[in-house]
Amino acid sequence: MKAYKYKLKPSAKIEAIFTSWLATLCELYNAALQERRDAYRISGISINYKAQSKQLPEIKEERVDLKRIHSQVIQETLKRVEKAFDNFFRRVKEKKDKAGFPRFRSSPRYDSFTFPQSGFRVDQKRKKLHLSKIGSVKVHLSRPIEGKIKTCTIKREADGWYVLFAVEEKEKKSVVVAADEPVGIDVGIKTFATLSNGEQIENPRFFRQGEGELKKAQRRVSGRRKGSHRRKKAVRLLAKKHQRVARQRCDFHFKEAKKLTQRFRVIKFEDLNIKGMVKNHHLAKSISDAGWRQFISITAHKAEEAGGRVEEVNGSGTSTKCSRCGHRHRMPLSIRVYRCSNCGLVLCRDQNAAINIKERKGRAVLASRRKVTSVEEARTYQRTQLESPPITGFTV
Ligand SMILES: [Zn+2]
Repeated sequence: MKAYKYKLKPSAKIEAIFTSWLATLCELYNAALQERRDAYRISGISINYKAQSKQLPEIKEERVDLKRIHSQVIQETLKRVEKAFDNFFRRVKEKKDKAGFPRFRSSPRYDSFTFPQSGFRVDQKRKKLHLSKIGSVKVHLSRPIEGKIKTCTIKREADGWYVLFAVEEKEKKSVVVAADEPVGIDVGIKTFATLSNGEQIENPRFFRQGEGELKKAQRRVSGRRKGSHRRKKAVRLLAKKHQRVARQRCDFHFKEAKKLTQRFRVIKFEDLNIKGMVKNHHLAKSISDAGWRQFISITAHKAEEAGGRVEEVNGSGTSTKCSRCGHRHRMPLSIRVYRCSNCGLVLCRDQNAAINIKERKGRAVLASRRKVTSVEEARTYQRTQLESPPITGFTV
């Protein structure tokens, strides 16, 4: 399954319908959750999807607004509740510390509904999306959809409405003409990455620019009174900026990961989980650490697709060791060139480290087991989900 995501340009009328569907479905979601919680708490019974969907005709008699919503969309909402409970029971079974009960959703947080099978049609030529019981919406079809569309999700985001299609792809076995020789990669703050062959991947300018804009937007939020209208407005702006930066970064990571995995079968990084605490730790670094973890995850995912793999090695001492003779030198961060007094090697500090990384034995990074950037999700929602990580850390 591959996901396609496009911006929608709904008319005011359609937008009002979207909003009213979301409000109704949110209510339904919470009601279904309530029923399950009560049943479980009071009598230890778990009510399943079937039992809940059986009640729908009766509920529809009471609630006319539900009649206006496509029946499959309603069912899919109940399925979400079921999924939330399944996850809960799984966590209980695994005896996770925090097997928190599925939570109620507030209306602003309930931001999508899905046509799981039918009720929608895309006219790629006219760039229109026809939705049953809603109408036609203009879609910004930035790239053509290839394959069979399985589901259609309408989603509200900080900057407007989007449609997400889950599309079944024809199995494409990519033929990789990648080198057998592994490549070692040293990640850094100034230069995004240095390869063991001496190539460098520069940080795109928008990294710094975006971070500056984020800080400014964050300051604006904290400068305004809690609960005020102006603060809410600033929060919205911050969310938008946040989303933009995350998208740009993710795009960049995907692009670079693709290039690497097309060229190299085995790609080695230092294990940032081991190293992170050792090197001088400051904010900029911890921020970029998160970025690199995402990059490594995405690269692992892409490598798997291409039949290669990503390995992580213990990176301790990779910058102090001479990559030619093994001699060790003190290498404070300010020294950018590695000069070996023993064998005479003169090399860019980062490349020297990258070669050491390449030479070390590593452990394969399994794309699907990495939890940091939900590569699991990437499988179904390829880019879209990674593009917009949940926004946390500030309140209205
Ligand atoms: Zn040497």
